[in-house]
Amino acid sequence: MSYVFSPPAPTSIPIKGSSQIFAVNRIYCVGQNYSDHVKEMGGDPKKNPPVFFSKPANSIVINNLPVKYPSATGNLHYEVELVVALGAGGLDISQAEALDCVYGYAVGIDFTRRDLQTAAKESGRPWDTAKGFDQSAPISAIKPFDTEKNLGNSRIALSLNGELKQEATLGEMIWSVSEIIAELSKFYELKAGDLIFTGTPSGVSSVIPGDHLQAEIAGIGEIDFDILN
Ligand code: MN
Repeated sequence: MSYVFSPPAPTSIPIKGSSQIFAVNRIYCVGQNYSDHVKEMGGDPKKNPPVFFSKPANSIVINNLPVKYPSATGNLHYEVELVVALGAGGLDISQAEALDCVYGYAVGIDFTRRDLQTAAKESGRPWDTAKGFDQSAPISAIKPFDTEKNLGNSRIALSLNGELKQEATLGEMIWSVSEIIAELSKFYELKAGDLIFTGTPSGVSSVIPGDHLQAEIAGIGEIDFDILN
């Protein structure tokens, strides 16, 4: 048997300090996971369970390559996020076992067509075109965490054209990494190669072609790239 056309190469991400690469299986995302951002979007942080959505695996952008301003939006927003890279998975993973599934962490951007998302929310329709578009998930190299998997209060921050726009600590997340893995695994059988974007702090705003974004999580990684026309 042969393929009717050559299958695409798997999306892969460099690993810090290693010549090996991480093959991406699926990309899950958590909506509204920092109370300040939930408030700025008009919600109540303690009221609702985590919101999950997904992006295609090939929406990943690596190596600080520039991102082309996407079609069909006039309001493209950045969202800096901690990204969890899974080295193992399962269904109904307990919180106690959740961190055993973590291979490492990275910093990533959950690009959002905010105008389309707002329209989708108002009409009760899905978020796919607002979230799961080409080049919507730039990411740093993955830092493996062999022993220390608890991130504590590391600083997460994003600057637009050199101006600090988002700044928080990972301790401000409403749902912790273990809680997210446990909750997500009730809906999906998680696998090695899955990524989880864990939500963004307050300070989101729009970018235009020519803008430069820089984002980092202390001890994890950094990302630095341009938006092109
Ligand atoms: Mn997000």
